[in-house]
Amino acid sequence: MTRLTFLGTGTSQGVPIIACPCDRCQSTDPHDKRFRAAAYIESEGFQVLVDAGPDFRMQMLARNIRHLDAILLTHKHKDHTGGLDDVRSLNYIDRKAVEIYCEPEVLAALRNDYAYAFAEHKYPGAPEWHVHLLDGRPFRITSLENTGELEWVHDVGYFFRQPDGSLVPSDNAVVDALPALPGPDCGVADGHRYLNITPIRGMHDQMPVLGFRFGNIAYLTDMSSIPESESVKLEGLEHLTLNTVGYKPHHSHFSLDEALALANRIGARHTWLTHLSHTFPPHRQFCEDLRKLCRERGIRSDVQPAYDGLTITAP
Ligand SMILES: [Zn+2]
Ligand SMILES: [Zn+2]
Ligand SMILES: [Zn+2]
Repeated sequence: MTRLTFLGTGTSQGVPIIACPCDRCQSTDPHDKRFRAAAYIESEGFQVLVDAGPDFRMQMLARNIRHLDAILLTHKHKDHTGGLDDVRSLNYIDRKAVEIYCEPEVLAALRNDYAYAFAEHKYPGAPEWHVHLLDGRPFRITSLENTGELEWVHDVGYFFRQPDGSLVPSDNAVVDALPALPGPDCGVADGHRYLNITPIRGMHDQMPVLGFRFGNIAYLTDMSSIPESESVKLEGLEHLTLNTVGYKPHHSHFSLDEALALANRIGARHTWLTHLSHTFPPHRQFCEDLRKLCRERGIRSDVQPAYDGLTITAP
């Protein structure tokens, strides 16, 4: 069983947009309050976050999430990475680094945006990350991930205790992600639980981004095209998430028409739209409009707007 909860379904500025007087931004319906796009996946005992944007802290608090086994990053944009400093509380509670999975290009951006987290002599209390590099192939997360028990020394920072009792400063290490294991998507190998995850390649204008498939749920965001070669990875889905930011063609996101055409092509039982902007009507109206559009166009998927807090499940 895989559960996905939408922690945020808004475009890069969120909805409402600061200072916007429009009726969507002024709506009092909670469905029209959209944090920046992120998803929380629970599967086989693993707790996984996709993207940690500027609303990360409020998203964790809103859903009472107290632990993460992995944070997967789709791409380097700030609305997907801007909250990574706030994993500090997880570092402190779990006494370990947070396991982050991303492509090398995303790591390069993190090194730039969060130079202090990679500094040789870190400021005490800087975030502790253990970065796993993805190369586009299916990978696995495991219950083994262990950068050692971090020890917090007040006013000095985090250290690893060595067998001889000495303390070595922590280092935000970078390793290659472990490849997926053949056979079932989850299980036990070498005494440790694992979960296989399939990345899906998409293009965000000219920027390569990754979506992720967990069992029969695929979460794709910030794409404007998907190479034909990825189609085979999107077969037999119960739930598909696609991004759209408006009715008009957009250089880096699917327009609504493009998202509907893609939903029809992939043919998941349900398709959920995310990364929504205030150009769409209020949630209830948008649901009605989509039902009508899908009927008129004979779309072979039940397409609905996602909303913050929505949970979907697949066997
Ligand atoms: Zn985005
Ligand atoms: Zn507005
Ligand atoms: Zn983006």
